[in-house]
Amino acid sequence: MKPMNLSNSRISERTIMYKWSPFSRSEVLERAGVLPIVRGEGARVFDVDGRSYLDCHAGLWLVNAGYGRDEIAAAIAKQAHELAWFSSFEGYTNLPSTDLAERLVELMRPEGMAKIFFSSGGSDAAETALKMARMYWKLQGQGQRYKIIARERAYHGVSFGAMSATGMPANRNAYEPLVPGFRHAIAPDRYRHPALNESEAAAFFAADIERVILSEGPASVAAVIAEPIQGAGGVIIPPDGYLQRLQDICQNYGILLILDEVITGFGRTGEWFGARHWALQPDMITMAKGLTSGYLPLGATAVSQRVFDVFRQHEAKGGAFRHGNTYSGHPIACAAALANIDIIERENLVGNASQVGAHLLRALKPLEEHPMVGEVSGLGLIGRVQLTSDKTSRAALPAPLAIGDRIAAEMRRRGVIMRQLPYDILSFSPPLCLTMAEADEIAAVFGQAIDQVYGEIRKEL
Ligand code: PLP
Repeated sequence: MKPMNLSNSRISERTIMYKWSPFSRSEVLERAGVLPIVRGEGARVFDVDGRSYLDCHAGLWLVNAGYGRDEIAAAIAKQAHELAWFSSFEGYTNLPSTDLAERLVELMRPEGMAKIFFSSGGSDAAETALKMARMYWKLQGQGQRYKIIARERAYHGVSFGAMSATGMPANRNAYEPLVPGFRHAIAPDRYRHPALNESEAAAFFAADIERVILSEGPASVAAVIAEPIQGAGGVIIPPDGYLQRLQDICQNYGILLILDEVITGFGRTGEWFGARHWALQPDMITMAKGLTSGYLPLGATAVSQRVFDVFRQHEAKGGAFRHGNTYSGHPIACAAALANIDIIERENLVGNASQVGAHLLRALKPLEEHPMVGEVSGLGLIGRVQLTSDKTSRAALPAPLAIGDRIAAEMRRRGVIMRQLPYDILSFSPPLCLTMAEADEIAAVFGQAIDQVYGEIRKEL
């Protein structure tokens, strides 16, 4: 028998009473409750009352290897017994962080990465990259190159630098003044520019990056930071050609290119890194999430030899990159990452993401016939269903009806966890071990939920 205080509703009450939940509104939690998840297996999680859910979002886009991996748990326990922590600062290291750095450099040979700087998560990884970018130019006597160009709807994290790069006003406005020197170009969302074909769209969006660079003055720009696929801003899969053009523009003006692969890394898109789809060789790559599949917090910033060499010369003259977190290179987190990468490799989860992702996309595509669905798109196991109140004008849904929330709630009632993003978008990003049958289940439940909600609200549209 389960103890009385172990029920969904009791945990929900205690959560609301004591815990300040991130990115949440108490009013909503009090009305709808908080769902306590206690166990996971593969792509499924279980609540306190014993109900199972297919987690179509891998938590927050991160449990790439899936839940309940004994191998990762054993690697964590072994490392905790041997050595819970030791410094990576000032002449020390620990074995897992050195092993992981080597493994990541090997893994990112095609992207041309040469050195790994560890941190504690995605925001820290972005912060590290942004500080490296500014210092890189200062060290070369070009301190006037301090500006960072990001895109609208980008999400790079919550710390001040990462937040200043983020292109979602709702995540920034309350914390102004922000870090000076950040500018935003338009997001490469083709759905918002229906008149353009793929190559026109690639040229148009890349031209907007160049427009911002030129209006700021290229000699004042340190770096462009970009997610290969913008995640939290609405799973924006850029048109083919756009990211190559972006890289060419950066090279043309001598500007550093930082790719934020916090979501797109470690197989999510059906390649090890998003960069590989477009054969990109950026100057830096930030990563977190799928690096450990969430088994422990870990971030990393990978840099090219070109970037590192500038710092190396500075160090030869007695300088240093004076930056690092206590937990940079945490041995237990690095041991978890190594076990996680072993699983992704051995089970070919990158290939699975590509195949099952294509199957899921095919299964969801017929939803585009639905009056309330504007577009279904995806790459590997990340994608979105774009809702609209008018398929021709692509108008937004009436906000007070909270239709996306209702569809997500209806799906959860039917055992599938989906995520509602701004701009009337429902996103999916399940564990990479998802099976074909589970993909079919997601598509079937999506269809049922949208029909159900449409039936309830169609007169109000
Ligand atoms: N970059 C991207 C693309 C992200 O999606 C996120 C988090 O969702 C971050 C950075 C920030 O990572 P963290 O929440 O680990 O600080």
